[in-house]
Amino acid sequence: MICLTIDCEQWNVPELRGKEDPSNGNTLYSLEGNKKLLKILNKHKVRATFFVTGVFAEQNKEHVKELSKEHEIACHGYNHFYRGNPNLNLKGDISKSKKILEKITKRKILGFRSPQFQFSKGLIKVLEELNFKYDSSIHSAYLPGFYNHKDKPLTPFKIGKILEIPASARPGSRLPFSWIFIRNLPLIYSVGAVRKLLKLGIIPVIYVHPWEFYEIKNKNVPFYITRNTGARFCKKFDRFLSKFKDERFVTMEEIYKSTKLRVSNEVS
Ligand SMILES: [Zn+2]
Repeated sequence: MICLTIDCEQWNVPELRGKEDPSNGNTLYSLEGNKKLLKILNKHKVRATFFVTGVFAEQNKEHVKELSKEHEIACHGYNHFYRGNPNLNLKGDISKSKKILEKITKRKILGFRSPQFQFSKGLIKVLEELNFKYDSSIHSAYLPGFYNHKDKPLTPFKIGKILEIPASARPGSRLPFSWIFIRNLPLIYSVGAVRKLLKLGIIPVIYVHPWEFYEIKNKNVPFYITRNTGARFCKKFDRFLSKFKDERFVTMEEIYKSTKLRVSNEVS
């Protein structure tokens, strides 16, 4: 089993790097990228979990409603500016987004992933208060300059009432292998990481962004952020998925439900 997750958000990479840029905040890149990504997912019959921001959902209601018929919708906060934001009202931002998503999809939103993987104990408390069931704000990876979660498990674990389902890293080195790494490194790097996890009996949790499937040119972000976006990534991601045609793709909700069942069986 493999779990594919998509962080569906307004584009604000320049903003996150302290740059003013006319492209900041637009949802067009992700909307157009999603259309291309959905064709690839349909071709491979892959169901995914989309972590959607409140801003993206507000501006693309019909699209998100349509997405929810085939895929799981989970919450990715409202404004997508968490890292280094002194004005962030964590609970306010998450609950606003959850309400918007539940109104559009008419379903309970079970899961959350923090923008920029900004995990904290305070976050878990907020998620418990807002009745979330699982979180995926830990990336069990070592990303120099950003975070070092080498000590975190690669498999789901409980924190308080919340099931933490971490985004995967390579076993051993704990280097990341999702999004820019699939896009910019030889395919064998990420394919090898997924195979290694499968061999260990771990469900790989992979993540990409819809805007990566839309060709972006921008001088205010590092080259590797926009390199090989658009048609090139569509082609590469299609090849990536074709390597796993014998695997079943599961959503985060399915992982949550099967883990809950296993834990309750162990107790009884
Ligand atoms: Zn994000």
